[in-house]
Amino acid sequence: MEFLRPATWDEALAVKAEYPTALPISGGTDVMVEMNFDVHRPSAILDLNRITELSQWEITGDVVKLGASVPYSRIIDELSGPLPGLALAAHTVGSPQIRNRGGVGGNLGAASPAGDSHPALLAAGRDVFVEVASVRGTRMIAIDDFYVGVKRNSMEQDELIRAVHIPVADGPQQFSKIGTRNAMVIAVCAFGFALHPKNGTVGTGIGSAAPTPRRAVEAEEYLQGVLAERGLWESGDLLGTEVIQKFGELVKAAASPIDDVRGTADYRRHALAVMARRTLTWTWNDYSKQIRSAA
Ligand SMILES: Cc1cc2nc3c(=O)[nH]c(=O)nc-3n(C[C@H](O)[C@H](O)[C@H](O)COP(=O)(O)OP(=O)(O)OC[C@H]3O[C@@H](n4cnc5c(N)ncnc54)[C@H](O)[C@@H]3O)c2cc1C
Repeated sequence: MEFLRPATWDEALAVKAEYPTALPISGGTDVMVEMNFDVHRPSAILDLNRITELSQWEITGDVVKLGASVPYSRIIDELSGPLPGLALAAHTVGSPQIRNRGGVGGNLGAASPAGDSHPALLAAGRDVFVEVASVRGTRMIAIDDFYVGVKRNSMEQDELIRAVHIPVADGPQQFSKIGTRNAMVIAVCAFGFALHPKNGTVGTGIGSAAPTPRRAVEAEEYLQGVLAERGLWESGDLLGTEVIQKFGELVKAAASPIDDVRGTADYRRHALAVMARRTLTWTWNDYSKQIRSAA
């Protein structure tokens, strides 16, 4: 097995072009597990750890450019203000050791329906883009177009993930995950939710309850309609229980889970409705408080 260690981004793209089947490795928290279990044995490994820009983030205007290899622990410590939903999701990943190594680029590369960053990225809105590149050029893939199947994403074989571009939160965000215990657990199912008062939208993300991470489109449209028609963005008045209930039912309906070792499809649907109701209530309470304290 060849071990390729480019020092710069351009070198990495050139190496990937020359060895398209080389398996990129960042934190290695997915790659090494699969190799240890002999899931696959690549002919070459492309180590991205010398490329410092992949471990950096910056904010330009109202967008965070998050390097593919910024570990979860730094997202929690440094980005919980601009990216509260993603930071909450990062809190639930693995253990401190895993959070010190693993990052969003690896989660996107693996594209598991159970990956915890996906619901948070979807909920962050339709203006989230995955920046991928090859020697042929750079593409910005909208997060909604990124997940194409179970553990499959829309990248070409010669492409690498450079960064994820995520709008700075303009309202409260939440993430909720159900597992068989509180830590070191793959999600039975998960839900991300965000309020976007600036453009009057809401964002949702369902994890581990469909072949790919997905948003609950009808639930988003329903809630956006209610918030606009009743002037709730301006007033911050409490949502009625019927609105919260209906939102939960629409999120549940958007899932298409399966029975597996971690949980049944019925349980996942039920849990999603509960998480949707809770995250909506939490975020809306926070939003109402902000509106009232500003008045
Ligand atoms: C004990 C344990 C607990 C875990 N718990 C969780 C959990 O709770 N939630 C969760 O979501 N995940 C969990 N994971 C999985 C893993 O930690 C995450 O998916 C993590 O985000 C992977 O990041 P990484 O940098 O380690 O990726 P790596 O293992 O380095 O790579 C993962 C995949 O992405 C590809 N890749 C990496 N970087 C790039 C790049 N820049 N461009 C293109 N492709 C790239 C790799 O080729 C590989 O296919 C756990 C893993 C372990 C071992």
